[in-house]
Amino acid sequence: MAKLNDTHDPQLKSWVESANVEGCDFPIQNLPFGMFRRLGSDDLPRGCVAIGDQVLILTHCLTKGLLNGKAEQAVEATLGPTLNPLMALGPDYWSALRAQLSALLSAGGAEAELKDALVPMAQVEMCMPADIGDYTDFYASVNHATNAGKLFRPDNPLLPNYKHIPIAYHGRASSINVSGTPSKRPMGQLKAPDAELPVVGACNRLDYETELGVFVGPGNEQGATISIDQAEDHIFGFCVLNDWSARDIQAWEYQPLGPFLAKNFATTISPWIVTMEAMAPYRQPVYQRPSDDPAPLPYLTSDTHENSGGLNITLEVAIATEKMRGDGQAPQVIGTPVFKDMYWSVFQMLTHHTMGGCNLQPGDFYGSGTISGTERNQLGSLLEVTIGGKESIEFPNGETRTFLEDGDEVIMRAWCEKDGAARIGFGACRSIILPATE
Ligand code: CA
Repeated sequence: MAKLNDTHDPQLKSWVESANVEGCDFPIQNLPFGMFRRLGSDDLPRGCVAIGDQVLILTHCLTKGLLNGKAEQAVEATLGPTLNPLMALGPDYWSALRAQLSALLSAGGAEAELKDALVPMAQVEMCMPADIGDYTDFYASVNHATNAGKLFRPDNPLLPNYKHIPIAYHGRASSINVSGTPSKRPMGQLKAPDAELPVVGACNRLDYETELGVFVGPGNEQGATISIDQAEDHIFGFCVLNDWSARDIQAWEYQPLGPFLAKNFATTISPWIVTMEAMAPYRQPVYQRPSDDPAPLPYLTSDTHENSGGLNITLEVAIATEKMRGDGQAPQVIGTPVFKDMYWSVFQMLTHHTMGGCNLQPGDFYGSGTISGTERNQLGSLLEVTIGGKESIEFPNGETRTFLEDGDEVIMRAWCEKDGAARIGFGACRSIILPATE
């Protein structure tokens, strides 16, 4: 059960002034983890937390002797090039570290000792936060499943298993990139519906999918399972995820075993991991299913889960074309999907993943699936916005799109806000499309 403590107090301020600015993604109530190196250096990545427009180098807290107990052990786990060892430790360690960092960074905290432990974000390059061993992508938005299903199977959009089982496919971990890395348009087998034979060519229906990414903390032994009420102790935190999708490749290859090359050429994630504990103020009851929908099977539900298994997160996806960037124009927002309407929760996804005995490991990663609401401005993919490429969107400068073109930059963001809690943000997940190598 999500508990609020002093670290969530909306009145709490930091001695890092930029963290106190209204609308900042990284106030002291957030404290997301990441890995960074100084811009232009070949340094090994180092563990840090975001505070305002700065990164705090975690090891400085150790060398100055400012941490003790489980918090000290937690920072010792960040001395390698990834956060996997920290993820493996579990919530007692994460929580101890969060509490001590919050005290050190709060107004009247350890400004004298830690002011040299800060580096401006403008002077760092963020790295992959974890070595992701395995990646799974779910399909948890019933609105997206229905919209996309209509386009791929007009007569049979929502398959009969959807409301009983969290559907997913095993994705490709090796091609997950951190925000800022360009994404190359894939080549693939393409077959137009009226063509007799497939041809090889560059994808010409390249799309994004706006998703929430979840990093696994402590795993489970192979053959063991994680119950729905234990699930939150196995989640380290969350980021924004763009599941790039080649719709023309997908249409030809996806039956009978699901997506393959349509999805495995690239996936982009935002660099900061917003922790499970930082999300505590934004837990809420799970999505209320219509009364004639089946109830989740017993292993996927509990009273605690019903009351607090939902997450109140707003996401945003925007496009900046090459011309827009050259002309100094702001990215055009295409959709603002909300996570609270997801049919399956992040906890149900994790529990279902293990119910057959599959072992999850620290640093494993899963995506929620495209997040789409019921309104046109809440759609998480171009496939849905353009109704499978039938209707184009027009930008203020007159350019139009059905799918993405080379040079387009896709920028995703997410944030949580409500009365009585500090607004927290996830930072950006951005990537520019490079041309295919024909
Ligand atoms: Ca997806």
